[in-house]
Amino acid sequence: MIVLSGGTGTPKLLLGLKKVLPWSELTVVANTADDLWVSGNLVSPDLDTVLYTLAGMIDRSKWWGIEDDSFETHDFLSRLGFRELLAIGDIDRAVHIFRSELLREGLTLSMATERLCKVLKIEEKVLPMTDDPVSTMVSTPEGEMHLQEFWVGRGGRPEVKAVRFRGMEDAHPALEFLAALEKAKEDGEPVLIGPSNPVSSIGPILALRGIRNLLNEGKRKRSGEGKGEKGKKKIRVVAISPLVGGKPLSGPAAKFMRAWGYPVSDQGVADLLGCVDLLVVSPESDYQGHSVRLDTVMRDEEDSLRLAEEIVKILDEETETEAET
Ligand code: GDP
Repeated sequence: MIVLSGGTGTPKLLLGLKKVLPWSELTVVANTADDLWVSGNLVSPDLDTVLYTLAGMIDRSKWWGIEDDSFETHDFLSRLGFRELLAIGDIDRAVHIFRSELLREGLTLSMATERLCKVLKIEEKVLPMTDDPVSTMVSTPEGEMHLQEFWVGRGGRPEVKAVRFRGMEDAHPALEFLAALEKAKEDGEPVLIGPSNPVSSIGPILALRGIRNLLNEGKRKRSGEGKGEKGKKKIRVVAISPLVGGKPLSGPAAKFMRAWGYPVSDQGVADLLGCVDLLVVSPESDYQGHSVRLDTVMRDEEDSLRLAEEIVKILDEETETEAET
């Protein structure tokens, strides 16, 4: 199963999926449009959270950084009068240095991520969405700024006028991401969009050249004249809404959805994503499209495991129904 991930909601689900699925069945594609260079090293917040989650090292109180990490370097830099936009733990920083050295040697981000998986003993496949630089830029009355400056630097307070992905025109999906999608199409495996910010976490992945088309191919065939055609390969897309009771649990999803002209509702999430065959929503949702209602709030590992089991069951049932049509 391919899982598209941001850096909080979907990693919570990965905690459970990791236990439910054999490692060989899990490929996680992480958003990299939050990435930025800090003190000479590439920080990839969503990719890092996915890696640390799968390696069992994530700080679950924050969903970023490494559990029990120290911040001596960051704090001493502050004493020296050097402001780092992100508070980076010492071990976390070691990972960033390792990655950045590999990039400076000429490896791609995909290759560097593979090396990191090996040393962190992660057996699941983890892929960055692209090897090219893409940055989510937020337009505010104070000017345009990087997502991290908006969210961490300004506490997400400024009004949001627009959100765009700088560099997207020149970016290509990572080759392994494309290969994984082709394989999913061949094997009839679903793509799962985890409960992540539809604009700033899933938006960049879907905006990469060719991705939305690949995912929509199946959807058109299912709802259009090709419905039921035997032997046609298509990718089924199941998404879990990041909204609970019509609101995001964390982060700037509401502001960003409004800036893109979508209502903050499950219908808004479905319309914005635009490629979803089945949306998993919370029990009180008024969403009218093809959906399943579940308690999607993951307060702890038990919740993550329960939701992961339910999702895998739904996907299996969908696969059986699909095979019968
Ligand atoms: P980011 O990269 O840190 O912004 O994290 P994500 O995009 O992966 O996750 C942020 C989104 O996840 C927010 O819109 C939250 O509403 C959603 N989210 C966080 N925890 C949960 C949860 O337990 N259940 C659901 N359904 N959504 C969640």
